[in-house]
Amino acid sequence: MRALLRILSLCLCVMVFLSGCGWEQDSFVYQGIIFEGFDPAKHQPSDEFLKHVTPTKVSLSRGQIKALKKCVDLLNEQNLRYLLEYPDRFVIVEAPFSFADKPQMIVYLDQEKVNLTFSIGDDWENKLLNANLGLMDHSGQFYFKGTPELPNLLRIIIHEIGHLVEYDRLKFNWQGKFIPHPLNKEFVSISWDRNRYWQDKEGFSEKLHNIQSINGLIHFLQWFKWESSFFSLSSSMGMNEDFAEAFVYYILKEYYDYELSFVYKGRVVLDNLQASNPYRRKKWAFIANLMEKESMEE
Ligand SMILES: [Zn+2]
Repeated sequence: MRALLRILSLCLCVMVFLSGCGWEQDSFVYQGIIFEGFDPAKHQPSDEFLKHVTPTKVSLSRGQIKALKKCVDLLNEQNLRYLLEYPDRFVIVEAPFSFADKPQMIVYLDQEKVNLTFSIGDDWENKLLNANLGLMDHSGQFYFKGTPELPNLLRIIIHEIGHLVEYDRLKFNWQGKFIPHPLNKEFVSISWDRNRYWQDKEGFSEKLHNIQSINGLIHFLQWFKWESSFFSLSSSMGMNEDFAEAFVYYILKEYYDYELSFVYKGRVVLDNLQASNPYRRKKWAFIANLMEKESMEE
């Protein structure tokens, strides 16, 4: 009897050990949400995106699974689960960026971004330095700090869902030229000038490229906080990005009370970079209204 118990407990130990090892997995379902590693035999992204995708099979590591589950938990805790149900599924893929395949309602996540170590603040610094290489020399002196700190993966997931909302609810077109639609007119007209081929009204990217020094950067960020209609450095890339980022910061503010600060030489020089100003208020009111309709249909 004792020998049998010993064998049984040994078996149990081996099982626990093996399950803890975390063999890579092709897919998993967590809280009813489907996550799959890319498989060329199974997934066919729309032509628009296909050319960017490396056609190799992706297995999900233990760390990646943990990161994805954490983001599901973060959304669940705020009763935002319905957002995760917007996409049909999430596919983790080897690609230079994450994207929402709108016609298929599938979110593809760049596997390199699937971690919990890179924060939204880190992403800000990264995008800033990519947009303005001249600031690289000063990069050790400043950073962006989130309160609370949140993983950039959460932002990416909300951003891509924002694209599905924008496509599904506001009838933004998703290829080539922008075509106005009564459903998105009110939002689009806040930042974009119809009379100038839908350029942004702020000359945002020019301002960003023209920053020459730390003082210039602080000046830019002050302007950004109080006067810009955009919520992030990538918002001005187009109407779709504008909506997706406004959607992100609406959710982050409303549900996580998230604030992003600029820290220079260890001191917060500017807090709350997504502060409310008249333009941003209009965008948030628009999104709040949209979300209210959404939850009524639940
Ligand atoms: Zn986007």
